[in-house]
Amino acid sequence: MDTALESNPHRRFNILTQEWVLVSPHRTKRPWQGKTETTEEKEHISYDESCFLCPTNERIGGEVNPDYKGTNVFTNDFGALLSETPTFNYEKGLLKAAGESGICKVICFSPDHSLTLPDMEIPAIVNIVDTWQREFLELGSLRNINYVQIFENKGAIMGCSNPHPHGQIWAQHAIPTEIEKKTATQHTHYKLYGNTLLEDYVQQELEENVRVISQNDSFVTLVPFWAVWPYETIIIPKRPMATITDLSNKEREDFAHQLKTVTQKYDRLFDTSFPYSAGIHQAPTDGLAHKEWHWHMSFYPPLLRSATVKKFMVGYEMFAMPQRDLTAESAAEKLKSL
Ligand SMILES: [Zn+2]
Repeated sequence: MDTALESNPHRRFNILTQEWVLVSPHRTKRPWQGKTETTEEKEHISYDESCFLCPTNERIGGEVNPDYKGTNVFTNDFGALLSETPTFNYEKGLLKAAGESGICKVICFSPDHSLTLPDMEIPAIVNIVDTWQREFLELGSLRNINYVQIFENKGAIMGCSNPHPHGQIWAQHAIPTEIEKKTATQHTHYKLYGNTLLEDYVQQELEENVRVISQNDSFVTLVPFWAVWPYETIIIPKRPMATITDLSNKEREDFAHQLKTVTQKYDRLFDTSFPYSAGIHQAPTDGLAHKEWHWHMSFYPPLLRSATVKKFMVGYEMFAMPQRDLTAESAAEKLKSL
């Protein structure tokens, strides 16, 4: 690692979004006197009769969950997007809006209320990946759906109201802002070099080998050079693939292993059920080939230096740009060692 980056304040560039993050490694030793969050107690009951996601229980909307054994998918009773929304454009002077239709689904990862991803066996995680693939294919093939976002919010600190292991899928007509940015940067790189941007990035990270925390035949997990969150990680397939539907059986299993490894490391980092927001970015489902797209999964965890100290995006970060003290290399070294 370049020593200039180890000790001096500097900006780092995110090649996928073309945004900058301010890194201040000289500040990592300052004392902490701020707020601490209470540690989240892990639930240990396999079935909770008051949980809306447990098998055979009634949901808020009145429907009853099946007695499912693997994953269970249903349309969110209170989704942010609705499939029946009419198409309309609103323009008045400088004001602009448009009707937006879509579908919001919930995926229960397991019938067991107490489990989280790091606790699950590999076949159970493969089954989750399988469900993601099926839902992506099905939702993405709908005529009015141009993008499918798969994500998981884990932990009350991340605004997740229910500890039952689950994630979400929001599918919509418009291509969201983050995807528009990443499509543009990947397209530019692909046109120039004939390789995907992440294919070349993975190559460089494997050569440098300072931010890689885990890898197998098909995937590498690393702390991206431009990480914003203290222990942010990204799982990238080594082979270029536009979407998760391109995964072979072997690759699906390799992906499951990386998911288990990174979430296990997270839980061990501060000896807590580690909260995060994780999401898969993939090519839009707008009918174009998107050879430039190289899908990846990002984990954005809010914890900073213990199970009770959270990073806040306030002040300078709200008004100017994200900032971090811990370098990506230090975070990677720590995660790798666990
Ligand atoms: Zn439950």
